[in-house]
Amino acid sequence: MDQPHARTDFHVLAEMIPAPALMLRPDGTPVGWNRSYLEMLGIDDRLVVERTIDETMHPDDMDATALILSETTLDIPLGPTDLRVMHHDGSWVRASWMHRLDSATGLLLVVAMDVTARHELSRQLMVEARTDALTGLANRTGLVEAIEAARENGSPYLLASLDLDRFKRINDTWGHHVGDLVLIVVAKRLKRALPLGSVIARIGGDEFVVMVPHLLDPDPTDIGQRISKIFAQPVADGGRQIPIGGSVGLVVAPPEMHTEDVLRRADFSLYESKTDATRSWVLADSDAFQRQQVQLELEDDLRAAIGTGQFRSHVQPIVRISDRSTVALEALARWYHPVHGVRAAGAFIESAENLGLITEIGRDVREHAIMYHQNADAGVALSINLSALEVAQETLIDELVATTEVFGIENEQMILEITESTLVANLTAARNSLEKLQACGFRISLDDFGAGYSSLQYLATFPLDQVKLDRSILAGRTSSKAAGLLTEAAIDFIQQLGHELVVEGVETEEDHEYLVERGVEYAQGWLYGRPRPVGVPMSTTNPTLQRN
Ligand code: C2E
Ligand code: MG
Ligand code: MG
Repeated sequence: MDQPHARTDFHVLAEMIPAPALMLRPDGTPVGWNRSYLEMLGIDDRLVVERTIDETMHPDDMDATALILSETTLDIPLGPTDLRVMHHDGSWVRASWMHRLDSATGLLLVVAMDVTARHELSRQLMVEARTDALTGLANRTGLVEAIEAARENGSPYLLASLDLDRFKRINDTWGHHVGDLVLIVVAKRLKRALPLGSVIARIGGDEFVVMVPHLLDPDPTDIGQRISKIFAQPVADGGRQIPIGGSVGLVVAPPEMHTEDVLRRADFSLYESKTDATRSWVLADSDAFQRQQVQLELEDDLRAAIGTGQFRSHVQPIVRISDRSTVALEALARWYHPVHGVRAAGAFIESAENLGLITEIGRDVREHAIMYHQNADAGVALSINLSALEVAQETLIDELVATTEVFGIENEQMILEITESTLVANLTAARNSLEKLQACGFRISLDDFGAGYSSLQYLATFPLDQVKLDRSILAGRTSSKAAGLLTEAAIDFIQQLGHELVVEGVETEEDHEYLVERGVEYAQGWLYGRPRPVGVPMSTTNPTLQRN
């Protein structure tokens, strides 16, 4: 079969199929085509011949085209290959091409499917999957992709996390349509406020994140100010003015930092900005972030340790100054951490109080101390520390009475140390609880006096048996003349009120001599003995354990 015949056959056949079809020489010159092909490109017969292959194919698809022309040597259908061809109006038509060699003629038969519409649809779907429907901003997926791209760039970029203050209140007060309106307005203001090329996303209800790439040379102060300014104007809804506010946390993110870590860091600054009314935006400071990480780990660890027997008591002697004999042992909480070893109370008690875990920890420590105290020398009291939360618990008295009964300890031998914060928390309730505890025979001690507000009022009016003067007062006496006078005055005042006085933090012989001169009766401190595990006598204490 010669070529003209083949062309005639091709034309007849090609007009019968609804897809663009083409017959080419191996050099790319078209020798046959159908109407669909002309329609796809918006051209006529003349133009098909006049146009060179370079003028028809997209420059980026030339290599693939050349490959098809030169390497199609088999008489079997091949493809599909996505290639773009130029429409007469200059736009690119994307088509999926099947091709095969007609070995009888050496010509290439090509059939195309116009896939521009399909591509547009998938492009739209891609965009939608990355867009927040309400505001038209990027969503979390879009944001994460933008951040990943910025990281690949290898340069630090700026990330800002922001949210609206009291957004729930706006929704509750004015209705969700107003809430939506506020979000839309905020999105518009952000777009106007930020440099072109910034990626702005809404990743949750009222949470927005902005990424400013390195290319735009972002200055954190400038961006912080631009963003916080958008909250200055209320949002107008018809005649109403809805006041808005927001907080902003910024972080200059190094490219090697993981996206989730960057977002967490920005959130941490956002939280700081929320809790600090004087700052409408906060730039992440890595020390503060580090501290927060450590704190979060500690809190997780604390929660996990409850009920596992990791909290025990060490004891430290309280002595009579005249002969340094032990009159009481103070139970101090210690956390026997399986990984970090023994931790002193100062490292975790405050967190346990904030998390509300102190009641469980306190009970474990008390029971441990009381259990061992049965073996202590007669006449040595046991002093235990109570947090405000524990004093506020109605069950405390019954629990204490039950424990002392079980272990055969007189209530009079128990001293309960409370701090000013317990009294400040609820004056009347605290007074009631303390009076009830005293009525059961327990003695009440005001711990750390001089470290907090040091209200003289409490000293004079509360039912106290003992006052412990904070070690900062003793240690500070040499820092200035006034401080020296203050230490003397505090000691005198407590003594004159008739409270039993224990001075804390006696570390040296000079401290001891000072107290002897002032006629102080009781003291506590490293000079007389460090905290040690319960049941271990002073003389045989392991020095490494003593340090706690
Ligand atoms: P605190 O009741 O005033 O206990 C004294 C703290 O000072 C202890 O720290 C003790 O180790 C330390 N200390 C004793 N002598 C000296 C000294 O001479 N120099 C210096 N620099 N420090 C000395 P710790 O054990 O870390 O306890 C810290 C605080 O935690 C305690 O202060 C107490 O308020 C609280 N705490 C301890 N155990 C418990 C507990 O079981 N329950 C509650 N609610 N609080 C506890
Ligand atoms: Mg104490
Ligand atoms: Mg104290």
